[in-house]
Amino acid sequence: MQLKQIGEFKLIDIISNYTARPPASLIKGIGDDAAVVSEEAGQCLLLTTDILKESIHFNRHYTSPYLLGKKCLAVSLSDIAAMGGTPLYYLVSLSAPSSASFEFIRNLYRGMGRLAKQFNTFLIGGDTTSSRNGISITITLLGKAKKDSVIYRHGAENGDLIYVTGSVGDSSLGWLMLKKNRGSSRKNSLIRKHLAPSPRVEIGIEIARSNIATSMIDISDGLAADLRHILKQSRVGAAISLACLPLSLSYKKYCLDYSKEFYYQALCGGEDYELLFTINPKNRSKIRKLAKQTKTPVTCIGEITGVPSELLVLDSSGRELVLKKEGYKHF
Ligand code: ADP
Ligand code: MG
Repeated sequence: MQLKQIGEFKLIDIISNYTARPPASLIKGIGDDAAVVSEEAGQCLLLTTDILKESIHFNRHYTSPYLLGKKCLAVSLSDIAAMGGTPLYYLVSLSAPSSASFEFIRNLYRGMGRLAKQFNTFLIGGDTTSSRNGISITITLLGKAKKDSVIYRHGAENGDLIYVTGSVGDSSLGWLMLKKNRGSSRKNSLIRKHLAPSPRVEIGIEIARSNIATSMIDISDGLAADLRHILKQSRVGAAISLACLPLSLSYKKYCLDYSKEFYYQALCGGEDYELLFTINPKNRSKIRKLAKQTKTPVTCIGEITGVPSELLVLDSSGRELVLKKEGYKHF
């Protein structure tokens, strides 16, 4: 059987059967944005790892090594943010052809270092090996959180409101733009969002500190696909409204030049690295306050319902939109 017949998520499910009986200190293993390990004094350690591979995740000709370095770390920072954690240390495993330019690699690390400084995170090690087909960068990031503040994908409850930070769909639209125009300007906001996403670390920490979110995930595969992870693990359903989706001005302006369906990239496009979370409606004003305090826009896009795993996407007249293909799939 080939991997494409199993699919990425089923594969991870199968892999999770090969773990031994976990020690008592493991709070969460496979299945969330980061693993959670118990530490002393009510603290815990968060661990996440992500690969960025040439030709799959990036095209060397469309980005700069500096921006690529920033993005590599941003992807992992976003997973720690999705647990409500504070990033601490990272390791980098680099695989590159011997013909790769030294300047490229140097600038890649310069980019990572820039973002690391912004988020007070330190490079503590890694590994280097040669490659026969392109560059691959794997980052392992360690973070910390208070044990009773960590936010998981499970925990959403019937009646909770669903929120998202920033805007959705920009990154995948930026990618379509880059592909069609073979590189175009990095100044365009959609392209910038694709090449240099900003992880929502600050509001993630504040949401955790205030204990208002019942579940949280970051949007890496697409809003619909990532919301489905929350629904599956929380054993609930959701209804989201197209009219409420936060779309940027650039999205509205350029979307139909690059995508056949207006809402498709917003619902199914990946790599926005925004946070998607659920709260009890009584905490509505608290989240508005946190959004203001951290200068992070948040938008309510729908509600959690009691029908397990059902995701209703409703247009402005209440009609249901059927999604053909949800989110990015690796196999
Ligand atoms: P994210 O998009 O947030 O990085 P993933 O979909 O990559 O999350 O991973 C979901 C969960 O599966 C995580 O807990 C991750 O650690 C685990 N996982 C992914 N790939 C593997 C693998 N090859 N072996 C073991 N665990 C994996
Ligand atoms: Mg994630």
